[in-house]
Amino acid sequence: MPTDYKIFRNVCPRNCYDTCGIISYVKNGELIKVEGDPKHGYTKGRLCAKGYAYTQYVYSPDRLRYPLRQYPRGSGTWERISWEQAIEIIADKILELNKRYGSNLALAHNKFSGNLGLLHYAVEGMFNSMGEHTKTIGNACLAAGFDAISYDFGDNINPDPEDMADSKLIVIWGANPAWTAIHQLSHINAAREKGAKVVVIDPLYTPTAAKADIFVQIRPSTDSLLALGIVKILMEQDKCDNDFIRDHTWGWEPFSSYVKEKISISLVREVTGITEEVIFELASLYGSTKPCANWVGFGLQRSMNGGQNTRAINALVGVTGNIGRKGGGLYYFNPTPNYFPQSLLNHPSPESRQPREVDINRFADDILSLANPPVKMLWVASRNPLSQDQNLARWQELLESLELVVTVDLFMTRTAEMSDLVLPATSTFENDDVNVGYWHYWLAINQKAIEPLYEAKSDLEIARILTRKLNELSPGFSDFPYELTDEDWISKEFTPKVLEIYGLANWEELKDGPRKCSGNKIPWEDRRFKTKTGKFELYSRDAKENELPAISTYNQPRNDIYPLRLLSPQHRNRLHSQYDFVPWLNDEHFDILKMNQKDARQRGIEEGDTVCIYNEAGLLSKKIKLSPYIPLGVVVASQGGLKPINSLMFDLPADMGMKESGSRGLAINDVYVECKKQVK
Ligand code: SF4
Repeated sequence: MPTDYKIFRNVCPRNCYDTCGIISYVKNGELIKVEGDPKHGYTKGRLCAKGYAYTQYVYSPDRLRYPLRQYPRGSGTWERISWEQAIEIIADKILELNKRYGSNLALAHNKFSGNLGLLHYAVEGMFNSMGEHTKTIGNACLAAGFDAISYDFGDNINPDPEDMADSKLIVIWGANPAWTAIHQLSHINAAREKGAKVVVIDPLYTPTAAKADIFVQIRPSTDSLLALGIVKILMEQDKCDNDFIRDHTWGWEPFSSYVKEKISISLVREVTGITEEVIFELASLYGSTKPCANWVGFGLQRSMNGGQNTRAINALVGVTGNIGRKGGGLYYFNPTPNYFPQSLLNHPSPESRQPREVDINRFADDILSLANPPVKMLWVASRNPLSQDQNLARWQELLESLELVVTVDLFMTRTAEMSDLVLPATSTFENDDVNVGYWHYWLAINQKAIEPLYEAKSDLEIARILTRKLNELSPGFSDFPYELTDEDWISKEFTPKVLEIYGLANWEELKDGPRKCSGNKIPWEDRRFKTKTGKFELYSRDAKENELPAISTYNQPRNDIYPLRLLSPQHRNRLHSQYDFVPWLNDEHFDILKMNQKDARQRGIEEGDTVCIYNEAGLLSKKIKLSPYIPLGVVVASQGGLKPINSLMFDLPADMGMKESGSRGLAINDVYVECKKQVK
């Protein structure tokens, strides 16, 4: 390592549990190496392969370098234009639409989790500053689980994941940390060294399952029945925590009657595919081992039964008295981003000019249904909907109906390819930011380590120059404070309360290393739940009022005309469609479909065959990889790759999501397909 380099602190801004601290080495203005920040107390100096590949990501020859204009849209005929030209085209269109319709409602944006830095909410801030426009509500990832936890606990509060090291039993329901949350393994392993058992309950034999003491292969979306079956056994064996139930739960009578009358172990066995012996073994572990940490993975709630799956696991955690206990509890999502004012995200629109809202999970349909005025211009940032959204055929229709599509990205994604204007974005090493994770309790600052490559600009800088142009052409059009610097915006995030909980005198102290939130007391240790009853609710009147079952139930899966359930988990080398352009992460062929030998034989399919996969949403081809570990009736394709599996997804709603996110989640794990061997 040369001695004449500069060191910066960065953060991996991906939609990932770990939000790793990074140390960047810069020589002569070039990022020459990244490594984990040893001062980050959770990620402790280590990154995953995606993190270590950042130098290749930043200097990829595929990076977008300049603003580009395509005509006609989708033709592949691009011309380089200047930023001035690009901004002028956009500003002219915004002002023309405003004149045509008398408002800005014809402008829509679609942004989500490509970069979770707080300053990337400049996109939302920029649109809010224009007053009325068309924006998204809802959550594409977590909505059903949020509601389930909210109904039962009254609030979403995650225990400190570092406390898992003090668990005696860790039950991982549908998560695969060996690939998607690698730093949690050290806490799981610390517990194991002290004698804890690890159980993985998953439809797929994942790398995490391979390391577990017990792997329970469950049929997809039947977790609620397993959890309720375990409760039934514990009730019969008088192994529930009766003190906790008596003092701190609401609705035990109707809940226990329901479990007694409606849940039988033979039903659990038939529906989940788990033997009675294993169901009793799980009950024995739950009944005898405390504290027990329960981790609910996000995939488990992406189902028409997703909220119910989560509520049933909540109930199991409650009746075993594992709530409010160090090393125990329910792990799902840590809401620390909400401690921050998120000034850009929450930049207000004037009271009389509020945005209209469309559902992010039904975006194309919702936008196409709008009139008075229809949407005519779309701005896409931190997202690649033509790879990661659903109802892609409707997206094509939507794009055809628009007059201007602008995409801000680092790479020519599928969405960028279908845009009129593509604006090159900075990587996380080329701008300042603040990053707070949604899993662990640590906070870190992201420093600008290198100058933006080529002509790339950050979302915040783009918001500044576009606003300036709009106001130049139409004075007072936007109230976005474009004179504020990155540091000003960072400063706004550090309210006295935030400084206090992170033990900071000022935010600049983060340049010396990340800090942990001091508010990491054990959630619900005081047993004061935030439900209306003040208790942990096994029976939720709020759920009933919202036309949901008051008690967590198991709903039969939908009968589909297609026979194979499609699961699309994250691969260790991808986050959704990100990193497709990084050769170091392309050691494996991505466009494969994994299938059980028996299902393949029935269809005359062999290893390496190219198959056509289809359902009512669309069709695509992939190569077959046979695996005895894939359950019968299930096929698996990772996210990412050139042929997005979301071509087969449609907007099947999950059972919950309205309460906390304003729209129902997506049941993408309840999508079914059929496969046929392609004739050469
Ligand atoms: S993708 Fe996740 S684990 Fe990998 S470097 Fe980024 S935050 Fe860390």
